[in-house]
Amino acid sequence: MLEIRGITVGVWGTNCYAISDENGGCILIDPGEDPITIDKELIIPNRLRPVSMIATHGHLDHVGGAKYFTDKYLAPLYVHEDDVALANKATYWADVLGTPGITNPEKIKRLGAGPVIIKNFSFEIIHTPGHTIGGICIYLKEKGAVFTGDTLFFHTIGRSDRAGLDTGGQDLLVESIKTRLLGLPGGTIVFPGHEISTTIEHERQHNPFLI
Ligand SMILES: [Zn+2]
Ligand SMILES: [Zn+2]
Repeated sequence: MLEIRGITVGVWGTNCYAISDENGGCILIDPGEDPITIDKELIIPNRLRPVSMIATHGHLDHVGGAKYFTDKYLAPLYVHEDDVALANKATYWADVLGTPGITNPEKIKRLGAGPVIIKNFSFEIIHTPGHTIGGICIYLKEKGAVFTGDTLFFHTIGRSDRAGLDTGGQDLLVESIKTRLLGLPGGTIVFPGHEISTTIEHERQHNPFLI
């Protein structure tokens, strides 16, 4: 039986999630900018052991803590192949935006769309370009959960206005969400990269960008 836990860290308020199995092995989703807090408050107290990480996209606040977990737990970071270059510019963007404590990821594995099995965990990777060109949503069918990064939020969608940082576009983002995400079962819980959780059905009915 898998469990999902989350924590919000850093000046950007990024949600990092741990999906764990009964042995404590876990996949970290979006190891954001404050890995020490993630480790102290999410990993260690729950006796978890990160075996791998997946970034929903290559932005600094979603990959900036990955190196810490690669160094400490030997966990690699999976990133969609179209966002690897962006992930490798995390420190560059941290300098531009004045965000301290960010490091570039060191052990990146490339992901494409479709089913992926990592250790005991089976996911469906849904490519949802728009916020970034390599943005993904991670569907965990057995828990009825989808991790949407900065693609879909409660009552809003991700930004696409910051040149060089947001590498997609709003029309593309809306199309991605409508064609690839809203077809999931309505009760699917949406775990976004920032702010509170919602459901697919709720956003279908109430998200002003999608109705
Ligand atoms: Zn982002
Ligand atoms: Zn973000």
